[in-house]
Amino acid sequence: MPRISLKERIKQGLFLLDGAMGTELIARGVEVGKCNDYLNIELPDIVFDVHRAYLDAGSDAVLTNTFGANRYALARHGLAEKAVQINTAAAQIARRAGGQEKYVLGDIGPSGDFLRPLGDLEPKECKETYAEQAMALLAGGVDGFIVETMTALDEMAIAIEAVKSVAGDLLIFASMAFDKAGDDFKTMMGVDVESAISKMVSLGVDAIGFNCGTTTLDEYIELAEKYVSAIRALKKTRVTVFAEPNAGKPELLEGKAVYKVSPGDFAAAVNKIHSAGVNIIGGCCGTTPAHIEAVAGKLRS
Ligand SMILES: [Zn+2]
Repeated sequence: MPRISLKERIKQGLFLLDGAMGTELIARGVEVGKCNDYLNIELPDIVFDVHRAYLDAGSDAVLTNTFGANRYALARHGLAEKAVQINTAAAQIARRAGGQEKYVLGDIGPSGDFLRPLGDLEPKECKETYAEQAMALLAGGVDGFIVETMTALDEMAIAIEAVKSVAGDLLIFASMAFDKAGDDFKTMMGVDVESAISKMVSLGVDAIGFNCGTTTLDEYIELAEKYVSAIRALKKTRVTVFAEPNAGKPELLEGKAVYKVSPGDFAAAVNKIHSAGVNIIGGCCGTTPAHIEAVAGKLRS
């Protein structure tokens, strides 16, 4: 693990996360539709290679390849019983790529279902599922956790509590995915920015953010400003804001979502997000090592 703890490091200013994983795996020959999380076992060298590409591009931290590695999401591939093995392997690969210099965040994504009464998830079982994932990531050597792309407050809260129950002293990042809704922003489940922030603050997470969604880069800048002012209004200065925008708004091409924003245009928008008061920045869908390299070039010059 790096000498400066992650908690100390993020106080020192600009901190770059990585970009998208899935598209980078496909670019290295992985078939579309495969369980990306199982690649940590099946093809660890490819996952390692993606992490290294981001670190070489300038990322200070990489996220483990475990977005869909909770038991619920793995069950869709018949791999629920492999959850522990997959998460521990993923953390070890990222640790090996990051070495003693760079940081590793254990990535925790949504279950893909909803809690009762909307869906079939039971709160207790849901918490145990996320705790299982967090424990396995911890065993593999992560420096902190990121609970991301959440759209429902109840599921996000359970995931954060589960992480805290196994790794209370490690840093936790949490983020929700917003879409533009009229003059405002809402998650798919109707959560607005203020509710998201007050919930995340009350749960004691260290960094609060937004990622993914279907917004344009200009809207991400607006969302960043909204986040920063909402947090300032709460007077919780120890809470840091982070942003992981997509490479613009997805466009449908032959039924597939494509992201067309160039590394240069992405870096220009990220520079405005940074100026709005966001010091921790990475990329979500459609971003590549070239996007992160452009961001590092722009923000570190
Ligand atoms: Zn995304």
